Amino acid sequence: MVNSKDFAFRVNKQTPANGSLPPAYGTVIDCRPAHGRRGRSEKEVKSRPVRLTRVPGPHGVECKKRKRDGKDFKNDDGTATASKESSVDTMSTASVSTASTERPLVVRKSQPAPTRFRRGTVLKKQVDLDSWFTILRFSDPAQLLEMRTRIASCYRFLRDNPMLWKHSRDHSYDDSLPDPPSVLSEFQYAHLRHGHGCMSCHKPSTRKTYWAFLRRWCKTCLHSKIVKEHEVIAMLKEASEEHVLELLKCLPVAIFDSWENYVGVGPGNTHPQKNVYILQDVENLLAEHGRERDENPATWHAECRVWMSEKEKVIQERHDFARKMEFWEDHARQVKSSDFQEKKMARKKYFKERAAELTPPITEKELQLCPSYRRAVVIPKMPNMLSWSQLKPKVEKEAADVRKRCSTPDPRRLPDPMSLARERVQHGLPFFSHPSSRTTTPSTDPFF
Ligand SMILES: [Zn+2]
Repeated sequence: MVNSKDFAFRVNKQTPANGSLPPAYGTVIDCRPAHGRRGRSEKEVKSRPVRLTRVPGPHGVECKKRKRDGKDFKNDDGTATASKESSVDTMSTASVSTASTERPLVVRKSQPAPTRFRRGTVLKKQVDLDSWFTILRFSDPAQLLEMRTRIASCYRFLRDNPMLWKHSRDHSYDDSLPDPPSVLSEFQYAHLRHGHGCMSCHKPSTRKTYWAFLRRWCKTCLHSKIVKEHEVIAMLKEASEEHVLELLKCLPVAIFDSWENYVGVGPGNTHPQKNVYILQDVENLLAEHGRERDENPATWHAECRVWMSEKEKVIQERHDFARKMEFWEDHARQVKSSDFQEKKMARKKYFKERAAELTPPITEKELQLCPSYRRAVVIPKMPNMLSWSQLKPKVEKEAADVRKRCSTPDPRRLPDPMSLARERVQHGLPFFSHPSSRTTTPSTDPFF
């Protein structure tokens, strides 16, 4: 119950928070003393029910707003209640505004506003893992690799979701990258494809992955680990004289050219190319072969071929993958190169056209003599107004210098032989000067 000077309000009971809410209502009791004929006829105080829509807070913004609205309402509408009390104003405003907006009486607990993405601001609400999966599947595999290496919280998630890597790879490369062989995990594949640094000596600038060996090594490390085919055959002969060729097929092999450069996955049969193997692979194979033989000496002769055929299958799968991967990389390199070439040509054309529109126009020959132009046209990017606005002042200055140089004779230049001859004839000098016979050797030219 709220008392005012002339009015009282009675608010109904709190409605439950659950379920559909009944329309809120209250009762306004007119406590004004009755006057005149009305006072004689009415003995009880007059009351009328009104619907409540808002519960104004004592210090809230809404309270102030409502007061302001009440004043506005009073000024605009002359038929409003003639009460002068602010509380009555508030109440009458509330009763009028009921028809337009109905709000529940129960004030629900406000949800925390989402955190604005700002550097250094910690997120209040955590993103659930399903959302992360959806977000990260559209990321580049190189980015995922960076996240796995540098962000501790991402490490487990990326390690335990191999399909995420596959989605990311398919999305970024339009399903063109071959799937990894069974011996490689998705992370290992991404590491070989997008990682940097030698996997042996950790030299950071190493980028080359030898897909035949599924390793990324610098050239020094590669050459320290390989063995030639004849050396491998000698080692295999010591272990098993009768299965040398079969064991050879159980080893990953690459082809090197005569300059000891990696050519691709093997085996190769052309003469100048050589098959090379990794020494560690040969040693591991021989160790496993010896272990299996010693464990089953009685049945080894029968099981030997099965064991070798299993090994050969794995190596064959690796070689097939390596071939696909090397083909894909060659193709990507060619596409990139032709794309760069197109961009360079577009730059040349664009800059020539813009230079021709200048006053005075700069010709193509003058442009060729400008160092800034020569530097600009080897950048593999599409031209635009910004690149031209950066190049234009440099080209104008250099073209002016070129014109100045062309107009004034350069003392370092060799004199024109025809003009020299013309001058000599004009001054009555002999056309060819005779050298002194004492200091110079006689000419062997038959024409002189
Ligand atoms: Zn290395």
